[in-house]
Amino acid sequence: MSDSTRKVALVTGGTRGIGRATVLRLARDGHDVAFCYASRPDSAAEVEKEVAELGVRVYAHRADVSDPDAVRALVAETEERLGVIDTAVTSAGIVRDQALLMMADEDWQQVLRVNLDGTYHVCRSVVFEMMKRKSGCVINISSVAGVYGHATQTNYSASKAGIIGFTKALAKEVGRYGIRANAIAPGFIETDMTAGLSDKVREQAIRGIPLRRLDRPEEVADMVSYLVGAEYVTGAVLQIDGGLVV
Ligand code: NAP
Repeated sequence: MSDSTRKVALVTGGTRGIGRATVLRLARDGHDVAFCYASRPDSAAEVEKEVAELGVRVYAHRADVSDPDAVRALVAETEERLGVIDTAVTSAGIVRDQALLMMADEDWQQVLRVNLDGTYHVCRSVVFEMMKRKSGCVINISSVAGVYGHATQTNYSASKAGIIGFTKALAKEVGRYGIRANAIAPGFIETDMTAGLSDKVREQAIRGIPLRRLDRPEEVADMVSYLVGAEYVTGAVLQIDGGLVV
């Protein structure tokens, strides 16, 4: 068991995009950080190295968030190595876009399993220790698709709307134990998830954004950092989308 007095954060999907930026931001803020990833040990090793250079402890663990046993093991191992988790950020997520009539059942189920079940598995695993200590912070990464819906993303939009309902219910359930639960709803962020957009779709997207650019993952990580310190904010859904949906 750890004897560090630093706060401990767990971030899912920490090898790339928003999760990676969040791992680095929370490390810069002085947290010891554990993160999980699905399939890229090389990227995990890079992130581990970058975090270690910031002078905090880091623990990378391969764990599929859609698997409850894997998440339980991730949380147990993090607590063993770094100490009890103060902040959990669920960023692991996938897309499998398709028009509803063309949607394969597997693509529906897999998106719900990773995005929504994964969020549940993490929160289910961390909240008991937080309740015992009467302190904790959960931040779930949703999407503007979960607030407004995106065509060809019925699966993804449903999963992200589910995360919002889940987070609000959790905030009401655990607030009296000193635990805060909030969601962030990003718009278009420059990550691997949006790298596959065609030039045409990207241009259309940018035309629809009043600030006329995609967001950087580091700007979402800034919002995570804000929420970690925002002692009177819970049950909120903070949108970060350059004005895409106002
Ligand atoms: P990304 O660049 O595609 O990175 C996804 C991360 O999640 C990777 O670290 C990946 O690990 C991990 N991951 C994927 N499936 C996993 C699983 N089953 N178990 C554990 N880890 C898994 O994604 P991103 O764009 O940063 O998105 C992060 C979150 O923000 C997602 O929830 C996404 O829905 C949400 N979001 C993104 C945007 C956007 O425009 N990018 C907008 C709104 C919301 P590996 O590296 O090992 O594959």
